[in-house]
Amino acid sequence: MNDDDQPETTQDAEDTSSEPAPDAGGTPILGDVLLAIEELWPESLSEPWDAVGPVVGRASAEVKRILFAVDPTADVIAEALAWDADLLVTHHPLLLKPVNSVATSHFKGDAIHRLIEGGCALVTVHTNGDSAVGGVSDVLADAMGLRDVRPLAAAENGLPEEGIGRVGELADGTTLGEFAATVFSMLPAVAGGVKVAGDKDGIVRTVAVCGGAGDSLFDAVRAARADVYVTADLRHHPASEAREGAVDGRPYLIDVSHFGSEWLWLTPAADALDNVLTDQGYNVEVSVSGINTDPWDFILTPGS
Ligand SMILES: [Zn+2]
Repeated sequence: MNDDDQPETTQDAEDTSSEPAPDAGGTPILGDVLLAIEELWPESLSEPWDAVGPVVGRASAEVKRILFAVDPTADVIAEALAWDADLLVTHHPLLLKPVNSVATSHFKGDAIHRLIEGGCALVTVHTNGDSAVGGVSDVLADAMGLRDVRPLAAAENGLPEEGIGRVGELADGTTLGEFAATVFSMLPAVAGGVKVAGDKDGIVRTVAVCGGAGDSLFDAVRAARADVYVTADLRHHPASEAREGAVDGRPYLIDVSHFGSEWLWLTPAADALDNVLTDQGYNVEVSVSGINTDPWDFILTPGS
């Protein structure tokens, strides 16, 4: 990561070509980083409707600094450019829906211009990052201390341990209230907090989790006989029907911030990419955005 331990060169130094390089850290180009990203989060694991991979940037451009973030918002792009990042890796796509123009009169075109003018590439790692081993839901399952973790919905083009969502067991049963407090404490603080449906004193042991919006997975949650399902963006009808159809009150529901549920993945993801590049003899600096891109700013509740 630094050059401090490089030996001083001398005029009459012997041929040192047989010695290991003092600092093997070469600078990768974007094409090298894309290969490392593909190794960690293969595009084949992404959902058919998704848009992952490079969005902005030349494959031949050098990459020294990589910033990870959940959303490519204007504030995050400003942060990346202020840090002189050569690459911004975001979980959410900037261009999920096709566009007909990148004119700066629209915020998406403006974002693309700012990235290109600032010399910063943009790459999306979305549902491929969800599905892969060490993906978003794996990180959540880990943080919750789950054991025997397996996918809620196995990947069609992947290994048995790859897929969307995860389910696993807590070492010791705990109450829904205590478990919800654990979930709340491990996520970044956001205005919307954490919503819970179910008996606060009910015991939970089997936990299903899906980072991001997971209300399409209720059948898998029920099939896994999960006591509680932790996900984000639970809409009224799927949530209401899940509660109406609950067996012995289960699965209980814990609805968290979409941003928060995915933010936790950024640090292990950045470390994983750094490790792959380091193993290949490259030297990059990685960092994780500290900007809260949860869109909500305050909440009113009956007690407030
Ligand atoms: Zn998401």
